[in-house]
Amino acid sequence: MSTYLPAALLASLQELPGYNEAAFLQVHASGERVTSLRLNPAKVPDAVVAAQVLQSLGPTPPAPVPWSQYGYYLPQRPSFTLNPFFHAGAYYVQEASSMFLEHAMRQTCNLLQPLKVLDLCAAPGGKSTLLQSILANGSLLVANEVIRARAGLLADNMSRWGAQNVVVTNNDPRDMSRLPGFFDVLVVDAPCSGSGLFRREPEAVAEWSPDNVALCSQRQQRILADVWPALKENGVLIYSTCSYSKEEDEVIMDWLCNELGAENIPLQVPAAWNIVVTHSDKRNCEGYRFYPDQVMGEGFFIACFRKTNETAAPARRQKDTLPALPKKEQEKVYSWLHDTASLFLMEHQGEAIILPAQLTPAVALLQQQLYLRKAGVKAGQLTAKELVPDHQLAMSTLLAAGIPRVTLNHTQALQYLRKEDPAVPTGIKGWALMQYEQMPLGWAKVLPNRINNYYPKELRILKEI
Ligand code: SAM
Repeated sequence: MSTYLPAALLASLQELPGYNEAAFLQVHASGERVTSLRLNPAKVPDAVVAAQVLQSLGPTPPAPVPWSQYGYYLPQRPSFTLNPFFHAGAYYVQEASSMFLEHAMRQTCNLLQPLKVLDLCAAPGGKSTLLQSILANGSLLVANEVIRARAGLLADNMSRWGAQNVVVTNNDPRDMSRLPGFFDVLVVDAPCSGSGLFRREPEAVAEWSPDNVALCSQRQQRILADVWPALKENGVLIYSTCSYSKEEDEVIMDWLCNELGAENIPLQVPAAWNIVVTHSDKRNCEGYRFYPDQVMGEGFFIACFRKTNETAAPARRQKDTLPALPKKEQEKVYSWLHDTASLFLMEHQGEAIILPAQLTPAVALLQQQLYLRKAGVKAGQLTAKELVPDHQLAMSTLLAAGIPRVTLNHTQALQYLRKEDPAVPTGIKGWALMQYEQMPLGWAKVLPNRINNYYPKELRILKEI
């Protein structure tokens, strides 16, 4: 069978467990596309809303992704851009194999306890949105991305997800050594040679070479060595790639054990899922390979480890506090929120930021050590008279029930998301939430004869129907 896949890649896969060349070539030649998404349980609280969101994406009921509580395969690929629920943060479009992170987390961590989790290579936010959905109340998720522009995209996606317990940072992995023993869990979804995505992105094949695989393997080792000190003793490391190459997968497992003293954690994986169990040559570490001819998803590799070696205790600092919003300004913010008891309001450059109160010492420490792109939920800009609400507040799950809302139909919702001014009679004056099927899309200021659309310009839909 003729193929667009590099001969050197195919040759390197011959000896790998589970590799079936004929089936592998066939699935790449088929051009078949698997589309999957994960619902946001914070915004899709029950089966009725879930059915409503999924029906808006096509008539055929989606099938669940076996290893993810909130994951679904769509029988067709709809236009997500023209689906208002997408802009409301009701779901995240994510490749299905990657959702296995959920199974790995459930098997290696106690998800009933609050955890501090670092997603080191986080943009555009697939793994971070997943982690946020499964972590217990009181947990802190640090979603980091080293490339600045990608950190911006990550921050937008996390804002749309709506959670207040996420901090988005823009740091090099080596900066994490300033936080010794700080995290309970490290997720390293490493930059890789990307062969696992060749079916979906055949144009990426041109960049693949054995030399690049070797470079990626070196870089993965450097990233892991840099971030390792930030994991606490007995903490869990979850390492993943979207590469089939042994140098980026099994060889890294051996390297983690030999060089960092990591201890491999095997997982229970139902045989019916057709995920291939693989072992490293030297230390017999167990990892999991996903081949697109065997699972409904793209190529993926994942393995879990525990840090058993002793780690320096996190340094206690004198001033782990954040600047609180003055009392009289707090009132301007509280009136927008449904539950204020467990929240801390912080002032930052004339803006009010909402954080879970119990996370303030941790966020203060992060602020001293890292570059914070976003922390918690930005409530808005404080003027002498009022709070000018931010889009993050509209996307959050913190809003008071009494906030005026304008319900838009599908056409009006798309007009609003294009930053046009939908003509809707409202009977309201002032700030209002524009919503579609009860899901907030953003803010508008309603004037007697028109609506001022406050949807962020940079997020507006540009695509025509
Ligand atoms: N975890 C993401 C998700 O699920 O949406 C995908 C992450 S992608 C596989 C790898 C990320 O690592 C990219 O966002 C890339 O910009 C970042 N990256 C590239 N070079 C890096 C480096 N030297 N150190 C850390 N991260 C790097």
